[in-house]
This record gives sequence, C-alpha cells and structure tokens, in this order.
Amino acid sequence: MNVNDQMQREIVRGIRQFVEREVLPVAARLEHADEYPHALVDQMRDLGLFGCNVPTKYDGLGLDTITFALVIEELARGWMSLVGPLGTHSVICDIIHRFGTEPQRQKYLPDLASGVRRGGLALSESDAGTDVQRIRTTAARTDGGYLIRGSKMWITNGRHGNTFVLAAKTDPQADPPHTGISAFIIEKGAPGFTVGREIDKLGYRGVETCELHFDDFFVPEANLIGGVGGRGFKQIMAGLESERLNVAARGVGLARAAFEDAIRYSQERHTFGKPICQHQTIQNKLADMATRIEAARLLVRSAAEKKDRGERCDLEAGMAKLFATETAQEVVLEALRIHGGAGYAKDLNVERYYRDAPLLIIGGGTNELQRLIIAKGLLERFAV
Ligand SMILES: Cc1cc2nc3c(=O)[nH]c(=O)nc-3n(C[C@H](O)[C@H](O)[C@H](O)COP(=O)(O)OP(=O)(O)OC[C@H]3O[C@@H](n4cnc5c(N)ncnc54)[C@H](O)[C@@H]3O)c2cc1C
Repeated sequence: MNVNDQMQREIVRGIRQFVEREVLPVAARLEHADEYPHALVDQMRDLGLFGCNVPTKYDGLGLDTITFALVIEELARGWMSLVGPLGTHSVICDIIHRFGTEPQRQKYLPDLASGVRRGGLALSESDAGTDVQRIRTTAARTDGGYLIRGSKMWITNGRHGNTFVLAAKTDPQADPPHTGISAFIIEKGAPGFTVGREIDKLGYRGVETCELHFDDFFVPEANLIGGVGGRGFKQIMAGLESERLNVAARGVGLARAAFEDAIRYSQERHTFGKPICQHQTIQNKLADMATRIEAARLLVRSAAEKKDRGERCDLEAGMAKLFATETAQEVVLEALRIHGGAGYAKDLNVERYYRDAPLLIIGGGTNELQRLIIAKGLLERFAV
C-alpha cells in the first residue's frame, strides 16, 4: 500500500507518542535488568506493528517501505531492543509473502500480522555467519517431509518466537554449495526442537538471542518455502535486503536519540562561564552529527523509494545500511564525549546507546559485507 503524506505523518506521530509515553519511562530499567519487554511488545501487537509489511490482503497494515522505515526509526529512538521482536519477524513475513506458496501465505501471514505468531530467522550457525554457504544443519527427506538436524546460533526471538524461517541443506554435496540450501517454515511444538542457551550480550539487551537445536525435528513437506528445494539461499538473501533497510533505519533512530540527548546536555552544562554549546569545538560536533543523521535518513528514504517502485535496490540498501550504521556508531561516541564523565555513568541513556550501536555494524550483514555488495553492484553498473 502506498501511504499518503498525511497518513504517514499520523502513523509516525502515533508511534512517537507511544515511545514518549510508554517506552522512554521504562526502557532504562528494563535494559539494565535485561528483562523482556512483554507489556510493550503486547502494545506493539495491539498497534498492528507485527503486520507492518504484511499486505492488507493477509490482514497486515501493508505499509510501504518508507513508512515502515520511519516506524522503525521512531521505535529505535526510544529503545533499540524494541525493534528486535519486529526485525527478523518482518524479514520472514517478507520471505513468505514473496516466495511462499499461496497456502503458506494464507496459513502463516494473517497470524504473523496479528502477532499470534511471532517469528525469527534461523540462519547463522557457530561456524557460519557471513559465509552462509557453510551452514551444516541438514534436512533429510523422510515420509511426508524432512528431518532437521543441527544447531543455529544467535537467533533473535528464539525463546519468545514460535515460528521461524530456517535454512538447512537438503543437498550437502551440491556445487556450488548454496544450490543445496532450502528454506523451511518451522513451528515450535513437535519434539526435536529445543531452545538452548541465551547469549549474554554487550547491548541489545532485553531481547533474547539464543541457540536453537534440532534433533530429527520433523517438518512437513508443505512447509518447504515455495514448494521447491535448493532455492533457500536466494530467498533468504532477498529477505535480507529488507533487513538492511530495517537496520539502517534503526541506525538513524539510535543516532537521533544520542544527538537529541547531546544537544540538550550541551545547553545545560556550563564550563568556563558559558554553556558548552557555546564552545566552537562542541558546535562543530553538533553540526557534523546532525548533518550525518540527515544524510543517513535521506539514503534510507532513497533506497526505500526504489524498493517501493519495484526497482532493484540492493546497492542502495547496502549504502544506506553502511552509512546509517557507521553514522550511529560515530554519533553515539560524539554524544558520549559531549557528556564528559556523565556519559560514562549508567544513570544516563548515552552509555546504552554506546553499547547498542556496534550490533548495527554487525547485524543484517556486516559492514565489511555491505562494502563488498556495494562494490559488486558498482562494477556491474559501471562495467566497461
Ligand atoms: C545480537 C545479534 C543478533 C543476531 N540475530 C540473528 C538472527 O536472528 N538470525 C541469524 O540467523 N543470525 C543472527 N545474528 C548473526 C549475525 O547475522 C552474524 O553474527 C553476522 O552475519 C556475522 O557473522 P559472524 O558472526 O559469523 O562473523 P564472521 O562471518 O565470522 O565474520 C568475522 C569478520 O570477518 C569479516 N568477513 C567475513 N567474510 C568476509 C569477506 N569475504 N570479506 C571481508 N570481510 C569478511 C566480517 O565482516 C567480520 O568482520 C545475530 C548476531 C548478533 C550479534
């Protein structure tokens, strides 16, 4: 759905109010306690946010990519972890919508949109992150379906989610290896699927990141995405293109939070007889921070516009992800500097921003990988 400007403003205003009233008062406490934000997630479900990118035909909000990015920015400005339950959930909605069979769409998308089902992406393993082709989890043919064996690592929503898109090798000998990877929709409940250790993290706390273990876990044939094996790598990589914009929008939101705190503090804190914002060095920092944030937001918008026009946008999504998340990393450090010693204390939110930012340069494809994707796209586009 293309949202008109007024609807977009109203949606963004609604999310901003939710963040101001409900999120900001509790975020620091929940984050320091590493406590899952059940009440906030329930409110996000009631606002329909789990169906942001699910078409209205399947009971979702069917927002366009730009509006969805603005929603993510607002949430991340309040507390980046709050985007965790939505992030890979929306990736699997995208994969099922684009590549699922019609019965798969009808079975899963309405429940994912309503939040009855909450999902995640089970791709990474202890020995395979960037190099997805190295995954070792297998799906062996059996009567009526497949038996999954192996372990996944770093799975966001692993404990509180109930529905996942899982990558497994249906042909471990395939050459090239990615042609042996298939994608499945899996649900908790049947034997052989257990949630293991929750990883204790630097930031992005409050949302769980888990190991998942599969020991001859049965998946019916009907849950092979698109009904054809060997296409999982391409399906998941296409889904990760949306994830890149999502992560870029988180970067804009986090950087904005840090900037807003810094510019406020710079007017309150006095040294040498004047507020620190009157020192030119601090002004330079504020100017650079705000300029980078604005540029990051425009890159996200430009890539999202291309996606909404149905054009290929892997290059632009990579640029947006790279720039917005590096911006977040730089801006949180500058915000910390502006706060001096106060920024290092857990009393203020700046130290949380500082711990949250690094995930953005790793998740959704590391920024090293984004540079490779960008360079590949440029060489295709400017081929002589
Ligand atoms: C908090 C958190 C949540 C996560 N959630 C999920 C999730 O929900 N689902 C999921 O499937 N995964 C998830 N991940 C995993 C994440 O996607 C991987 O950590 C990420 O893809 C990097 O993989 P890796 O950790 O194996 O690093 P590696 O691939 O081992 O990379 C190590 C370093 O080498 C660099 N590198 C690798 N290959 C190249 C190359 N060809 N050229 C240049 N540099 C290269 C990388 O950029 C990085 O700097 C999560 C990770 C974290 C930290």
